[in-house]
Parts: sequence; structure tokens; C-alpha cells
Amino acid sequence: MPLRCEVCNKKIPSIFLKINECKCGKIVCSQHKSEASHGCKFDWKSYGCKELSKKLIISIDAAKGLKKI
Ligand SMILES: [Zn+2]
Ligand SMILES: [Zn+2]
Repeated sequence: MPLRCEVCNKKIPSIFLKINECKCGKIVCSQHKSEASHGCKFDWKSYGCKELSKKLIISIDAAKGLKKI
């Protein structure tokens, strides 16, 4: 039995299952892959914390650079 998207009920071919399983555990089609479109409850904030802090550091450095000029 093929799995279906939990949002639109569209069939998802089993070869795409790994790609279309979100970190929150929901099976979604490619259209509903983004967090907002399937009401994702995964804690992306803490997951992306490292990446965000990297960006922050870069922007702080950029701001420092600007002040020097
Ligand atoms: Zn869908
Ligand atoms: Zn999700």
C-alpha cells in the first residue's frame, strides 16, 4: 500500500519516502515538504541554531567592518 502525503493525500512513490519524510515524522509530498505547508512541529529553531549563530557571527563581523570604515 503506497503511502500518502499527510496534507493533500497524494500518493508518494516508495523511492521518495526517505526524501519526503520530514524531521517531524510526517510523510509529505514534494509540494508540502516545507515546514509551513504541513504545519511542521519539529523544533527547527534549535536544530538550525548552529547555522543561525554562524550567520549572526558573520553579520556581527560585517557590522564591525562597517564601523571601522
Ligand atoms: Zn501534499
Ligand atoms: Zn515537518
